[in-house]
Amino acid sequence: MSKILVTGGAGYIGSHTCIELLNNGYEVLVLDNLSNSSDESLKRVQTITHKKLEFVNGDIRDRELLDKLFSENTFEAVIHFAGFKAVGESCEIPLDYYDNNVYGTIVLCQAMKAANVKSIVFSSSATVYGDPASLPIMEDFPLSATNPYGRSKLMVEEMMGDLFKSDNDWGIALLRYFNPVGAHPSGQIGEDPNDIPNNLMPFVSQVAIGKLEKLRVFGNDYPTVDGTGVRDYIHVVDLAIGHVRAIERLKSNKGVQIWNLGVGKGYSVLEMVAAFEKASGKDVPYEIVDRRSGDIAACYANPEKALKELNWKAERELEEMVTDAWRWQSQNPNGYAS
Ligand code: NAD
Ligand code: UDP
Repeated sequence: MSKILVTGGAGYIGSHTCIELLNNGYEVLVLDNLSNSSDESLKRVQTITHKKLEFVNGDIRDRELLDKLFSENTFEAVIHFAGFKAVGESCEIPLDYYDNNVYGTIVLCQAMKAANVKSIVFSSSATVYGDPASLPIMEDFPLSATNPYGRSKLMVEEMMGDLFKSDNDWGIALLRYFNPVGAHPSGQIGEDPNDIPNNLMPFVSQVAIGKLEKLRVFGNDYPTVDGTGVRDYIHVVDLAIGHVRAIERLKSNKGVQIWNLGVGKGYSVLEMVAAFEKASGKDVPYEIVDRRSGDIAACYANPEKALKELNWKAERELEEMVTDAWRWQSQNPNGYAS
């Protein structure tokens, strides 16, 4: 059986990916320092799948620990989720972001190289496209960064390109996620932000459950359908399945391969709010406030490359995204601490 090292596997996208890996017959070892998660997510992954995974509480920057894990296990590949992800925070503590996201990835790749494990799937982001000149976004669009978080993703992408140039044995999948939302349909695992959420959907969920008073909609004067920002929201289970397909692709294809993982369709903030109200039966009061600095008007993917090369396509519609998000929120009002 093939074994996959999943860094950051206790987090939101990682835990959903563990389910898909286990259900597809992979063995899984999660390395996570629980800086933004709880190992309760992994207990629930095992309950949902009726399968076991291994968990090591540790840091990707700990080279000794990595060497130990690589010597004790035979990994087919690494899926690398571990990192910090809050744009605003990255402007306040940029060095911490470069340390965790860039230096952490360097240490991981050095350990992989030493162990001759040269297949990696990396969590990149649509943020690397900056403010795109046109839509939908294709993988060969120009790249740019407007904040330290985005720059850390861009740096890692470029670093991995150099790594492959130096050694053609590497197989590197750069997955550029659009906006992951929703939760596992069991309602047992989902997104569990530590503080007040930065992202739209967890914020909306917490307003609906009564933990937050109202949503602040950042701007209604964008050139979009109703003036509010448009994004390509993708169900986290679809996203998770994309990682399994990428692992399968790396078995026979080396090189740096890049895929957009999105639905290919954009929804506005107010459309998301309306869909959530319908699914939950709850009101989501909101007020329109100024634009958030750094936000772009609209962003959605052209996901055809992933369909062609990974045989992957997002299957879950908006209604399923918001219904599953609400099931998770209402069954676990305080996340994993509930
Ligand atoms: P998350 O915070 O829920 O998961 C990240 C996990 O990594 C957490 O469990 C955290 O404890 C762990 N971690 C952080 N630093 C670590 C370290 N040094 N060593 C070991 N573990 C560490 O975030 P997520 O939403 O699941 O995102 C996963 C990845 O996808 C991140 O790299 C993120 O930047 C990227 N991404 C996320 C989104 C999104 O909207 N959620 C969008 C695009 C890209
Ligand atoms: N947004 C909002 N209020 C919030 C959070 C987000 O109006 O409290 C808007 C934001 O301006 C953007 C969309 O919702 O148009 C998605 O934002 P999010 O932070 O979830 O993802 P981003 O695409 O910025 O990474």
